Amino acid sequence: MNNNQILFDQAKQYIPGGVNSPVRAFNAVGGTPLFITKGKGAYVYDANGKEYIDMVGSWGPMIVGHAHPYVLEKITAAMQNGLSFGAPTELEILFAQRLIQHVPSMEQVRLVSSGTESTMSAIRLARGYTNREMIIKFAGGYHGHADCLLVKAGSGLVTFGHPTSAGVGQAIIQHTMVLEYNDIEVLSRTFKEYGDKIAAVIIEPIAGNMNLVPANLEFLQTLRKLCTDYQSVLIFDEVMSGFRAALGGAQEIYNIKPDLTCLAKVIGGGMPLAAFGGKKEIMQKLAPVGNVYQAGTLSGNPIAVTAGLATLDLISQENFFSNLTNKTQYFIDGLITLAKQQSIEFCAQSVGGMFGFYFMKYLPNNLQDVEKADINKFKKFFHGMLENGVYLAPSAYEAGFMSSQHSIEILDEALNKAKLVFNSLV
Ligand SMILES: *Cc1c(COP(=O)(O)O)cnc(C)c1O
Repeated sequence: MNNNQILFDQAKQYIPGGVNSPVRAFNAVGGTPLFITKGKGAYVYDANGKEYIDMVGSWGPMIVGHAHPYVLEKITAAMQNGLSFGAPTELEILFAQRLIQHVPSMEQVRLVSSGTESTMSAIRLARGYTNREMIIKFAGGYHGHADCLLVKAGSGLVTFGHPTSAGVGQAIIQHTMVLEYNDIEVLSRTFKEYGDKIAAVIIEPIAGNMNLVPANLEFLQTLRKLCTDYQSVLIFDEVMSGFRAALGGAQEIYNIKPDLTCLAKVIGGGMPLAAFGGKKEIMQKLAPVGNVYQAGTLSGNPIAVTAGLATLDLISQENFFSNLTNKTQYFIDGLITLAKQQSIEFCAQSVGGMFGFYFMKYLPNNLQDVEKADINKFKKFFHGMLENGVYLAPSAYEAGFMSSQHSIEILDEALNKAKLVFNSLV
């Protein structure tokens, strides 16, 4: 008897598709999603009591592993003082200071509860600040599900897009342009034509929602310069890469300062917590000081902020990121070696604690490249690994995540399983 299947059937009666976020339904790989009962360190356990090495980490947040004793201790203590007040607390100051300390491009921050809220608010702020409407995003970038960002590229090189969801009207997305990622020429041409109308450019500087595709340095530098020249607001969506690719996020790696930064995932340590921040001059446009409205009943929730602070305590310790980076690299190198032994077309890369692997010859540079990967091989690999107790992201368009609790022994175990599965692919 498969308890995951029983629960999935039940869930579908009460919850559309049985899930509260679509990718969890395993539509991209087929089969039955795991219903998780608990997590500890590098492992999660499903409703059948089966143990899995978790390479998803709640899609990024669980960078110190599941149920870390230090984080639990801090939030257990905080809970005794009450769960929410809807009034300011000192914790929020401490947390804002910590974010600003590690991500110095942010002079001020505002706390929200999800990545979606953070990008949606940053776009509104950029539009209010510039008094312009047009925004640019890049194909394959995901910035949450605010209406104006649910857009995919149309045909042609410089295009206004099409909605990716029913219910998003043309009128709402008519000011959103979608460009190719890592294409300097198209970017420059677009700014030449529309530059003085562009309120903001939003980009994942290390894209993690079309599998893993880091931006080219020259591309990001050009983008920074164009935004400065045309006085458009450059928004780095570091919801995934922030405190994950490096302590200071992608902007530390590339040494480029955006005007606004969006954060979520790791900064909440598994709790619903997100933030956006940037230049004080821009942030001062927010209500109650400025005329750009933005609010939230649970914003800055004391338990979420406590989980975030505790997580930041742990990951800002010396050598945390170098150790994490080495482990991710070790795992990726292992996969590449194993695939090569079986002459399987495969490549992989990692940045800090995130990684991507692709059933194709060359590392991708944009969404079109990622789409060339062998999806059937991916599905077989995914299910083979799942059967063998390794939980990978259930989609070829998602990145993978390492935690500090993944020891070399655990990674060797995962690689041993990968060897079996690669063998079964040929
Ligand atoms: C996850 C993600 C979001 C959306 O965050 P939610 O908390 O799921 O709303 C936005 N941008 C990026 C880059 C993400 O990875």
